[in-house]
Amino acid sequence: SQINVWDKVDQYITERLIPHDAILEAVLSTNQEAGLPAYDVSPSQGKLLNLLVQMQGSKRILEVGTLGGYSTIWMARALPAEGKIVTLELDPHHAQVAAANLSLAEVQDKVELRVGDALEQLSQMSNEGVEPFDCIFIDADKPNNPNYLKWALHFSHPGTVIIGDNVIREGEIINKNSEDPRVQGVRAFYDLIADENRITATAIQTVGSKGYDGFVIGMVTS
Ligand code: SAM
Repeated sequence: SQINVWDKVDQYITERLIPHDAILEAVLSTNQEAGLPAYDVSPSQGKLLNLLVQMQGSKRILEVGTLGGYSTIWMARALPAEGKIVTLELDPHHAQVAAANLSLAEVQDKVELRVGDALEQLSQMSNEGVEPFDCIFIDADKPNNPNYLKWALHFSHPGTVIIGDNVIREGEIINKNSEDPRVQGVRAFYDLIADENRITATAIQTVGSKGYDGFVIGMVTS
């Protein structure tokens, strides 16, 4: 089937371009054994995040939705020595697994894992006067995507890159009557980006080991 080809091509890409990595593989099996849902980005997507961080020269990254820290590790590895990621996770069990994974990958000193509802954490961070971020990865509960985008703008400077995952949803995204709150959240996210003149953005459809989906990538201009 088509899905089988997508998966095989993803495997081919991974074998050719993404060196075998015992730590990242251990992280994925730990997550599985701990009962975490397999919502981590794929290896090729993780590598894309890693490349974007390097290309942009990001020093400060915000991630909304840690899960087991798989994407966090990919991005942390691309940071310079003084770089930092703040990653937000609601579920204490996910956060506990992530903390162990971040230590295994020896990136714990670059990562601040904040446990609790992301909207509460973001408002607390604002009260704490947390500095803007160079790169922001939105990958948590999709109904809240519009709220996360507002906070992303709050924590941005001109040049900040904003990435939002799972914005195609097997094409469901064009169904304006969808009863799936994730689809409606992502549609509202597109509307907000379209209406926001401080962001210029596009979205890319993807197929691969995680099926048919895609991501939004944008840049804050002012
Ligand atoms: N970025 C991760 C990766 O690629 O490895 C995957 C993140 S997973 C798609 C989404 C995560 O967001 C889950 O761990 C979930 O518990 C978390 N989450 C859901 N609602 C949240 C909320 N309100 N605040 C913070 N995290 C939330």
